[in-house]
Amino acid sequence: MNISPSIKTRIEKVLRENRLSVTDSRKMVLKLFMENDIALDHAAIEKGTGEKYDRVTIYRTLQSFLEKGIIHLIPTNDNTTLYALCKECDHGFHYDNHVHFICNECHNTQCLEDVLVPEVKLPDGFIPSATQMTVTGTCKKCMEKKSS
Ligand SMILES: [Zn+2]
Ligand SMILES: [Zn+2]
Ligand SMILES: [Zn+2]
Repeated sequence: MNISPSIKTRIEKVLRENRLSVTDSRKMVLKLFMENDIALDHAAIEKGTGEKYDRVTIYRTLQSFLEKGIIHLIPTNDNTTLYALCKECDHGFHYDNHVHFICNECHNTQCLEDVLVPEVKLPDGFIPSATQMTVTGTCKKCMEKKSS
């Protein structure tokens, strides 16, 4: 497995802090998220890990990361599930209330960690449990490609 020293340190830190044993599949999946910095779906994760692990192994790996607050789910319009790294979630609690951005050009979804979903005023009698917000457009990388 070819992992750069800085990513290797990050992976080991995340697994240690969450009391997860270090397994090859956990290392591979975390490496994918850390190197790409975009949201990934199941197919991309299977492909990215070299199809070395079966669906069940990847599913279990993702579930353990979700439970620990290492990654979060991003809802999509086409029933696929996207996963992305959490920034400040820990001990199984998620505080992900940021906006997600979908690029029309490269079709990548990214977390805009610093852009918070605005509070929505609901009518009396409605209690929200989660609010999601996605913005579509052209991402920074694609804008830079266009202007160069
Ligand atoms: Zn989270
Ligand atoms: Zn883009
Ligand atoms: Zn996110």
